[in-house]
Amino acid sequence: MLRNIIERIRVARFVTLHQRSRRVIERWQTRALQRLLAHAAWNVPSYARLFEQHRFEPRAFRDVSDVARLPIVTKDLFLKKPPEEFTDNSRLITGAWKQTSGTSGKPFSFLRESSMLGDRDVDFECLRFLLWQGYTLNQVATLKTAQIIVRSGWKKNYLLITTEEMRSDPQTAIRSIAESGPDILTSCPSMLLEVARHMQHRAAERIRPRYVVSFGETLSPLVRDFLSEMFGCEVYDRYGMGEVGAIGTECARHNGFHLHAESVFVEVVDERDKSLPPGQFGRVIVTDLQNYSMPFIRYETGDRGALLEEPCECGLRVARIVVQGREMASVMLGGRKVPHVELTMALDDFKNAIYQFQIVKKTDTTIGVRVVRGPAFIDRTGQEIITQIKNIVGDATHIVVETVSSLPLTQSGKLCIVVDESIGGSALHAPTGHIKRRDA
Ligand SMILES: [Zn+2]
Repeated sequence: MLRNIIERIRVARFVTLHQRSRRVIERWQTRALQRLLAHAAWNVPSYARLFEQHRFEPRAFRDVSDVARLPIVTKDLFLKKPPEEFTDNSRLITGAWKQTSGTSGKPFSFLRESSMLGDRDVDFECLRFLLWQGYTLNQVATLKTAQIIVRSGWKKNYLLITTEEMRSDPQTAIRSIAESGPDILTSCPSMLLEVARHMQHRAAERIRPRYVVSFGETLSPLVRDFLSEMFGCEVYDRYGMGEVGAIGTECARHNGFHLHAESVFVEVVDERDKSLPPGQFGRVIVTDLQNYSMPFIRYETGDRGALLEEPCECGLRVARIVVQGREMASVMLGGRKVPHVELTMALDDFKNAIYQFQIVKKTDTTIGVRVVRGPAFIDRTGQEIITQIKNIVGDATHIVVETVSSLPLTQSGKLCIVVDESIGGSALHAPTGHIKRRDA
């Protein structure tokens, strides 16, 4: 009984941390970092060596600003090493290995700590925006969710439809989602767009959730509006990545992602790894405060973003992050390395004219831009796209704009924003988005 009460208090503090003052959050994160760093120094050989090389002593860690004394790590810390080098050596690890393709397309296996929350509360992590609207944890736990994901599985109160089922027989898949009457429909934007476009042409099949939740890719304003119109509800976007899970969730203002401060510590740094002040864009670095099995400490996300520290109009004081997209992905075009983010930003001006786009390197001197037309696409839009892309890659490159009714999605239902068909058609880089979070 007493243990139950203590457990409930612990859960209550955990789930409400992000709603508390900056000072309380910072104290919590300091303690969480102290525990994690001490653990990594003692039990994870890769980190022990790294700390030693940088003369970093976890006991000297006093507050969150001390994090800057630690090196930033990339996937390379883990790749090509035996797991005992980068996982907890002090106990038998029982968690499941998961995989992400990563920015370079290289598969990367990682171990996630199972959530400190029980089955009943676990959806809080991704559905916390409901708490901000007055739902209780109990109510959140009883909501029905339909999710379109890569692999099939079972989860309480969930209808899981695979991307394969959606693709091979969309009519049946959409009907079964509609019949299940979900409160929440969730998937990556490309998949949701596919469902919405299907519904647009077949009025009989209508999914009417209370909320749509997107994750896994950049959600453009145009796609957000279209989803909202077709599903008849608000769309809440979430930011995260496979290795660390969800990092931030939108509130009803939809202006950046409120950080999941109880689970992650997020920084934005410049090219020389120096911390950037709020509002300035740089590399997003994340520390997972919950994963003791395979710690991710000052981990390079590959995303570009800025922290917003002023209080949000919704009343929450926890910082927000706005994300521009993958920084590290790039493609050789016209003899120079063009970062993926530059291409994405070049087409940002066409928000109402393009639902989706894909940039295709056809040869060393030819680039194709495939676009799914939006409502504001007019005759001269194609020429304007050519001009924008030429501004980046130079005049010598030949640009072809192709309008298509849909774009091919990856196995996981995402869109590869840059593909290289000059080397046999393989996708060069990660899908549009910044998130590759765990799907279930
Ligand atoms: Zn807010």
